[in-house]
Amino acid sequence: MLDYKITGGTIFDGTGKKGVPADIGIKNDTIAEIGNLSQVTARKTIDASRKNVCPGFIDVHSHSDVFLMIEPSAPSKILQGVTTEVVGNCGASAFPLTKKNRLPSDWAAQNYKTKWHDINTYFHALMKTKPAVNVVSLVGHNTLRASVMGYENRPASSDEIRQMEYLLEQAMDNGAKGLSTGLVYPPGMFTPLSEIKKLAKIISRYKGIYASHMRNEGRKICESIKETIEIAEASGAKIQISHLKTSGKSNWHLLDAVLELIENARDEGIDVTADRYPYIAGYTDLDILLPHWAAEGEKKTIMARLCDKKTREEIIAEIQDSRTENDWENIVIASVFAGKFKKFSGKKLSEAASEM
Ligand SMILES: [Zn+2]
Repeated sequence: MLDYKITGGTIFDGTGKKGVPADIGIKNDTIAEIGNLSQVTARKTIDASRKNVCPGFIDVHSHSDVFLMIEPSAPSKILQGVTTEVVGNCGASAFPLTKKNRLPSDWAAQNYKTKWHDINTYFHALMKTKPAVNVVSLVGHNTLRASVMGYENRPASSDEIRQMEYLLEQAMDNGAKGLSTGLVYPPGMFTPLSEIKKLAKIISRYKGIYASHMRNEGRKICESIKETIEIAEASGAKIQISHLKTSGKSNWHLLDAVLELIENARDEGIDVTADRYPYIAGYTDLDILLPHWAAEGEKKTIMARLCDKKTREEIIAEIQDSRTENDWENIVIASVFAGKFKKFSGKKLSEAASEM
């Protein structure tokens, strides 16, 4: 007797083949039979008539790293058919943690039952919550770099590079599947190309994935694509360009040039792929607007810069200079953690500014 029988659905196996009408029989945790199972008994029958049946989807670009511990039933993923998530993207992973680095602010704002510091203790804490999805993790380069040298705006010393290499190897030995960079965020934005190439070489050795949230997704996107391809060439690592977009309406026309660069690299045998989301908005932290020099250092150092009148004016001037569009109308404040500013949640930046 089968444990489960899924009947009457059209099966799509995920290879791109046409759907086939058939029943599926499951015994223990394995697909035991596919075909006409009308004569086979099962402990439970699931009627899938007029429905499509397919393997669980893999979300290759997820930021659920710590949120799975808060909401392990993962309804936002499970209800879309996602059964595996790849976390640790955009340079941010939950590990390694040392006294020198911090979790991203929206992660740090949550309450956790268990503490962790490396990949083993992270997965131990995560698995204790019995998440509904399978989890694959990359090592976030921002987390890795900051765990060794904090958020300083300078190249790493050779000793610091060795420490990063060691921590990366340790994570790969313990189940990480690659490295992600987030080169718009500190301290990734301070990182010279040579440093990333060295780490990507380790990933290549492990046959892992190097995923990149590139340095620029707007006006300078072609330079960023070239930089990413250069890392692939130098390291031999498989490259995934994360959330490929040409950010800002005035840059939409760059997409053809972007695709050409990727296709040319693929023609030369470089293993470069990309993912893209099907909507025309991005979602990130507001401090991404800060110039590099203003994003350096600890949170209190950054806040002190913003509170100093003269420095704030310099920051404003530089932000305005770097923008071609009226972003303040286009940026919506999606969520706010600080109590007294919660009232701005859901408002455009321009609206919030006029109310301050
Ligand atoms: Zn990203």
